[in-house]
Amino acid sequence: TVRTRFAPSPTGYLHIGGARTALYSWLHARHHGGQFVLRIEDTDLERSTPESVQAILEGMDWLELNWDEGPYYQTQRFDRYREVIQALLAENKAYRCYCTKEELEQMREGQRARGEKPRYSGLCRDRHAPREGVEPVIRFRSPDEGETVVDDLIHGRVVFRNSELDDLIIARGDGTPTYNFTVVVDDWDMAITHVIRGDDHLNNTPRQIQILQALGATPPTYAHVPMILGPDKQKMSKRHGAVSVVQYRDEGYLPEALLNYLVRLGWSHGDQEVFSMAEMIEYFRIENVNKAASVFNPEKLLWLNAHHIKHADPARLAERLRPFLARLGAGNLDGGPDLVEVVRIQQERARTLVEMAENSRFFYLAPTEYEPKDAAKHLNSEALPVIEALRERLGQQDDWRPESLHEQINALAEYLQVKLGKVAQPLRVALAGRAVSPPIDMTLSLLGKAETLARLDQALH
Ligand code: GLU
Repeated sequence: TVRTRFAPSPTGYLHIGGARTALYSWLHARHHGGQFVLRIEDTDLERSTPESVQAILEGMDWLELNWDEGPYYQTQRFDRYREVIQALLAENKAYRCYCTKEELEQMREGQRARGEKPRYSGLCRDRHAPREGVEPVIRFRSPDEGETVVDDLIHGRVVFRNSELDDLIIARGDGTPTYNFTVVVDDWDMAITHVIRGDDHLNNTPRQIQILQALGATPPTYAHVPMILGPDKQKMSKRHGAVSVVQYRDEGYLPEALLNYLVRLGWSHGDQEVFSMAEMIEYFRIENVNKAASVFNPEKLLWLNAHHIKHADPARLAERLRPFLARLGAGNLDGGPDLVEVVRIQQERARTLVEMAENSRFFYLAPTEYEPKDAAKHLNSEALPVIEALRERLGQQDDWRPESLHEQINALAEYLQVKLGKVAQPLRVALAGRAVSPPIDMTLSLLGKAETLARLDQALH
């Protein structure tokens, strides 16, 4: 069975690039009915933090990229790494290196003088005697001849000459294992079949394959995903706006919209832009991911978000909307209209949940002040008689369905011989505090008679 993994280093939040790598790994596993493993690569004790682990898990949870196994933590696997290192030492596939800083420096200088690339010469391969005062590192004995081939699912066949790869340090002087080594042991132990990761790791891959071969393991299949660039074609960073996944959550994006955006960033299925999760799982092929870097486009993400909001299940959307309303002071929705009904009329026009909350708050909180510009334009001396006449009519109106309210408002405009806007806009400002609201008949209907009249009275006050 197919087994993929996502292996973030907890040195920051889950960013857009990491999320896309996670998504591709997840989709590959789901497409093939396989398993997806989460592994936290926290061996860099100086840079890893528990807060980052939490932030990554939070991001994964929000995106609903559920894992079948894990999270595994590399810091809990040191015994295992030590054991594999001992085995390699015992088979003479790794050796202790007692080279001092000075020796290494001399080595490099000689190579530089000869116009060679600096690399470890293998000096300690046959030097077995421990040396006083030197904590040895452990090096992997890598082959001198031949080549190591990475048959990458995205980049194709990439050939590395073994003479270019020197003997990698797999454990430091203090005994802690190094990155390329822990990844290898983990991918092997966790029976990973497909390693899907950023292409900044492509150059590590031949080394990892060599170690796997030395261990008698079959290397997994690799797929190196290209980078994501900011709109200015530079590496994505904070300058380009939100880079952390949960920041998009807080800005009112839906996880399915972000995932839809990310799946298309570097992959396509004909010219289809909008994908449900089920469609992504069905159509995604790691082999079809682009080789070239992709450019992040915030407008397209916003467009997709609006689309997914429009087509989302209103009840589910209502639950997502609650915290955004609470943030605007509308934490208690009792006495107001059913939130699901509010969502139904708002999902046509809101591009984010933040917008939807801003435009829906007034259903639950009467305006305490009017937007000055809107009030000056629509709730002026010319408008007050209109509001008065409306108050009069609506006070006598018992049928509070939108279509009946619609008729009443039209009838009043006709009677006063003014355009509909001359009635609707003052009404909006009176009810919502500003000249923006869903269709006015629906707004009235949802707000209810008592609340509508109270707000009109307030405006006439
Ligand atoms: N921990 C590595 C990183 O965050 C990923 C290693 C891998 O996927 O093999 O870049």
